[in-house]
Amino acid sequence: MTWTQEEAALEDGWVRWRHDFHRYPETGFNEQRTARQVAQVLQALGLEVHGGIGGTGVVASLTVGQGAGVIGLRADMDALALAEAAPGRAWASQHAGCMHACGHDGHMAMLLGAAQLLARRRDFDGTVRFIFQPAEEHGRGASAMLADGLLERFPMDEIYGLHNIPGMPAGHIATRAGGIMASEDNFAIRITGRGGHAARPHMAVDPLVIGAEIVLALQTIVARALDPQQPAVVSCTEFITDGIRNAIPTEVLIKGDTRSYAPEVQALLQARMRALCEGIAGAHGAQCSVEYTHEFAPTVNWPQCVDVAVRAAQAVVGADRVDAATPPMMISEDFGRFLQAIPGAFVFLGNGAGTEAGSVPLHNARYDFNDQILPVGARYFAELARTRLPRLAA
Ligand SMILES: [Zn+2]
Ligand SMILES: [Zn+2]
Repeated sequence: MTWTQEEAALEDGWVRWRHDFHRYPETGFNEQRTARQVAQVLQALGLEVHGGIGGTGVVASLTVGQGAGVIGLRADMDALALAEAAPGRAWASQHAGCMHACGHDGHMAMLLGAAQLLARRRDFDGTVRFIFQPAEEHGRGASAMLADGLLERFPMDEIYGLHNIPGMPAGHIATRAGGIMASEDNFAIRITGRGGHAARPHMAVDPLVIGAEIVLALQTIVARALDPQQPAVVSCTEFITDGIRNAIPTEVLIKGDTRSYAPEVQALLQARMRALCEGIAGAHGAQCSVEYTHEFAPTVNWPQCVDVAVRAAQAVVGADRVDAATPPMMISEDFGRFLQAIPGAFVFLGNGAGTEAGSVPLHNARYDFNDQILPVGARYFAELARTRLPRLAA
């Protein structure tokens, strides 16, 4: 895709949109103002816009020609409950204790930019749906849109998304077929023993010692029960007792987090955890319950859609800036829910590395989306439509 001067002039507008989103961040399912702004831009472009999907979600459609193909392009809208620490930033957050520390402000501006490019050029054949999703950070927004009939009301063949990545050179694009981001599950293990005098342990059933044994035993799941070729993490993050200085506790609560890719690995982590906890507690005469909840689905890219994504990325940034076989990351992303329902692909877009702007980590109070990559993301999204829904030569 050649980049006309006229299109390059649109970039200033994209930066203004991004800064406006950054100034007025809203957390998951509270994105009212954000959704209004998004809808306003899309309406001004002449698109058919629907709001209130899955809470504050917005969907707009653009149909060109007679083609039956439909693809979805998705951006996330929510910010974090985090106080921004960026003295002197002209577009700093005006909402105390809330900031766009994950760059969703940039994701929205890029997708709006793509809508603008496609609405002007109209050089594809089919329908493109622009999906603005609430509440990515909670891992609840994609499910809410799906539960609200997203795919029935706005049918799509495929869906595409991206996330900016500090630590990756600005404007580079990376993806892979198969698992690209992990699932996240949380667990809470409650061990009930019998409290007693610290000096008379034989009269008690000490849940703390049992809990310590469980924490160590959980580390054998990945090390001893899982195929070493399969990635997974089990982390205990909290250990809470009701004991005091000189009293053995009655209750211990161990909380934590697991990450993995394959559903069968997820099931194995859960089953082994339950067996170890019940076995160890039972051997010591204590009671034990395990609560295991699925927070984020793994993001598993469909190979045929990765092909489309790679071709579009190469057309925009050149083959030398595209990595089609990047290693997976153990972070989690709500986009995985969509990929459980329909084919699609997710890519990482470099936000800046080393001394480049945009290298401050995600979820850091000093983080900022790198405006220099706005045109890359906007053009990538637009190029997906041209690649997947090509206009046949007359
Ligand atoms: Zn985030
Ligand atoms: Zn994010």
